[in-house]
Amino acid sequence: MNKPIIRNYSLIDLQQWLAQYNQPPFRAKQLFHWFWKKNIQSLTEITNLPKSALNQITEQITWDIINVSTIQQSSDGTIKAAFQLYDDCFVEGVIIPSSERNTACISTQVGCPVRCKFCATGNMGFLRNLNVGEIVDQVVWLNKISLTYFQKTLTNIVVMGMGEPFLNYDFTIRALKNITSSEGMNWSKQRITLSTVGIPDKIIQFADDNVGVQLAISLHAPFQEKREQLIPLAKKYLLNDVLNSLKHYVTKTNQEVTFEYLMLKEFNDTLTDAKELLRITSHLKSKINLIPYNAVDALPYQPSSEEKILAFYEFLRKRHVNVRIRKSRGQDIAAACGQLANKLFKK
Ligand code: SF4
Repeated sequence: MNKPIIRNYSLIDLQQWLAQYNQPPFRAKQLFHWFWKKNIQSLTEITNLPKSALNQITEQITWDIINVSTIQQSSDGTIKAAFQLYDDCFVEGVIIPSSERNTACISTQVGCPVRCKFCATGNMGFLRNLNVGEIVDQVVWLNKISLTYFQKTLTNIVVMGMGEPFLNYDFTIRALKNITSSEGMNWSKQRITLSTVGIPDKIIQFADDNVGVQLAISLHAPFQEKREQLIPLAKKYLLNDVLNSLKHYVTKTNQEVTFEYLMLKEFNDTLTDAKELLRITSHLKSKINLIPYNAVDALPYQPSSEEKILAFYEFLRKRHVNVRIRKSRGQDIAAACGQLANKLFKK
């Protein structure tokens, strides 16, 4: 029988699990403190538990710590790290430095079942969900890497790496709670953004669970048919339903939604697309990020020209849309998600 992955437990789960070994409930709080406040790499770092209790726990569990396998740095400063997991899977994390921010991009799944047609991760298929600790560990490691390379701690987190976070909802939300709670890493929720392709019932749950971190939608096309071509899951989760769930999100949370829009040459970069984008988003408290595409070998899409992106941007800006063009980062290290882990898997 597989041993339980102890860092997936909530505090109550942990109390119940410890009770079968006659450990008192306060041990769960002690362990939580070591896991999420001190971010220990090994159970041997725990100093305030009796050795017998620690040995008993160690024998019964799987300890799923992650390790840095490789680090690459782009000429623009962007860093991409490949993390090796306890079962020899790999995922990626990225640090995007700028003058005001030091943003970490983290993954929630090994590969991705959504299989977006423009995405290296989607192209590699899906292996498994990440555990709670594996999601949190990426932040811990990227913060250490940031201190080494930039002498600065991270300022922001985006959950936009490998995987669809809402297909690993429970562990992603539990990890975010450990990152933001005062018993954990105490990050401000305002500095964290979760990005999803749009799964309506999970958007509603995310609002109702009062998770509190910012929400971004990978929209990429304003028409149902075009979205389906890019994001196969969009056939199941219709654009209209996604937009309706976002209405609920905005009403419930009073937070704005960010729409992410990859600019793909001769696919979604015409003024007809811009007009429809304006129509479907204008009733929502929202902003739009236009993202120049990093082309991926063997995938069919190409980046839009600068002129096309500017014309698209100007159309929206003149109609008072809160829109900006994001810089493309890390092109020389293949920073489009999934490209490094994909190479490591192929070794
Ligand atoms: S873009 Fe995101 S959701 Fe789509 S395949 Fe890639 S990782 Fe998955």
